[in-house]
Amino acid sequence: MSNIKDKVVVITGASSGIGEAAAKELASKGAKLVLAARREDRLKKLQEEIQKDGAQAIYKVTDVTSHEQMEELAEIALKEFGKIDVLVNNAGVMPHSFLYKKKVDDWNKMIDVNIKGVLYGIAAVLPAMREQKSGHIISVSSVAGHVVGAGSTVYAGTKHAVRAISEGLRKEEAGNNIRSTIISPGAVATELTNSITDMDLKPGIDKIYEGAIAADSIARAIAFAIEQPADVAINEMIIRPTSQD
Ligand code: NDP
Repeated sequence: MSNIKDKVVVITGASSGIGEAAAKELASKGAKLVLAARREDRLKKLQEEIQKDGAQAIYKVTDVTSHEQMEELAEIALKEFGKIDVLVNNAGVMPHSFLYKKKVDDWNKMIDVNIKGVLYGIAAVLPAMREQKSGHIISVSSVAGHVVGAGSTVYAGTKHAVRAISEGLRKEEAGNNIRSTIISPGAVATELTNSITDMDLKPGIDKIYEGAIAADSIARAIAFAIEQPADVAINEMIIRPTSQD
């Protein structure tokens, strides 16, 4: 029997891209999904699709930058399913720009969504996981959590932070049977690059994304981490397109 069957999985950023693909992959393996993002129409459509295929899913419109809304998300998951086995901290934004352009609003957005969102997610599920004496928190970082490129400075800073937070979490909670996994994708074909407003960067980004892989590739990596036996923790996976240098 799959180690994913009947696990309750909360996914942030489930309305598109990697989060949506992960929800479908995990539902096909029998997980019970709690879908979170801001766009309700997308969440509702995904919920209906998952339910049509015979799996269970609920959704909650959630802004990960709100500590309160993240706490409510965990409460709803517990109320509906009685436990939270896995949190996938996936929501993220990537409005790349050069520092000298001083796009301070974009910096703040990345810090709020990519860092604070992950922390609020951990805060929301950790009490239940400690009580259950089991859990798994998967956080989506990036190749930019390892390598800094010109123009990706702030984004890379936030994704380095995600890796640091996940590693700290791993050390703090290893003794409580709570696994921590970092997923670091390279270029994946999603809506992520739509938020880039610095047109000087666009040609370079478009070139990198020519070889982008499908979101399913990352969904399979997430499923692989979850389906390991409870005493095996996949701490990090880097998944690049073969053609990405
Ligand atoms: P998408 O743009 O397709 O998905 C991003 C998701 O994040 C959406 O579901 C969006 O939902 C959600 N989101 C954004 N802001 C918020 C918010 N404030 N509150 C709640 N949800 C929010 O991109 P990807 O699927 O590619 O991105 C998923 C993760 O993967 C991100 O963390 C990204 O940094 C990371 N990643 C992606 C790579 C790529 O090449 N695509 C490479 C490396 C890492 P909504 O707008 O409905 O709220």
